[in-house]
Amino acid sequence: MMNTKIERVNPEQIDETIMEEAGRLIAEGELVAFPTETVYGLGGDALHPEAARKIYAAKGRPSDNPLIVHIADFSDMERVAREVPEAARKLAGAFWPGPLTMIVWKSDAVPMATTGGMDTVAVRMPNHPVALDLIRKSGCLIAAPSANTSGRPSPTEASHVAEDLSGRIAMILDGGPVGIGIESTIIDLTESKPMVLRPGYITPQMLSEVLGEEVIIDPGI
Ligand code: AMP
Ligand code: MG
Repeated sequence: MMNTKIERVNPEQIDETIMEEAGRLIAEGELVAFPTETVYGLGGDALHPEAARKIYAAKGRPSDNPLIVHIADFSDMERVAREVPEAARKLAGAFWPGPLTMIVWKSDAVPMATTGGMDTVAVRMPNHPVALDLIRKSGCLIAAPSANTSGRPSPTEASHVAEDLSGRIAMILDGGPVGIGIESTIIDLTESKPMVLRPGYITPQMLSEVLGEEVIIDPGI
């Protein structure tokens, strides 16, 4: 068991000292839970296989369930994607930062430990000042599933994160209760037609309007 630091951060007035410490922990390969506009995420360095393994261990999650890579600038998409599809640029222009996750072919920079062994990677730019600041301060891209142990509901408050993960992670950034509580919409851009793999706040119709083409829904959902 490790000592989990819980730090209160006001999203409207971010404490630089706390955020610098949190960013350093991520850069050193440790795990930090942080607020996003959807749910609290459990973050680790996305390009560091050992950090990804720590995330699976802390959550008790099977390691073939891929993680979402969180970025703070669109240019980071070029680091994690083999090539950036035109559709990704359009969708980012309309919905990022926001609750939309895009699946693209991964670059060699992204370890298989992060993608659960897949050749594709899930990428999102969260719309929360604490999340964006943590990504920038860490100098990393941050792999983050929801900050709950496997089988428990996705947390919308830091106290829920603490119940599940105290003693298993280095730090929890408490930015207060978070908004939507619904997870991001996931859209797959690797096939001939864009396909929604997980429904969420952003609907297929909203996606289709921006793309100017039909968006299909995964028949499995
Ligand atoms: P969570 O971060 O807990 O919301 O879970 C992330 C979810 O994103 C996974 O459970 C998958 O359903 C989905 N996902 C992440 N990466 C991929 C990928 N490369 N291909 C398809 N789905 C993915
Ligand atoms: Mg989850």
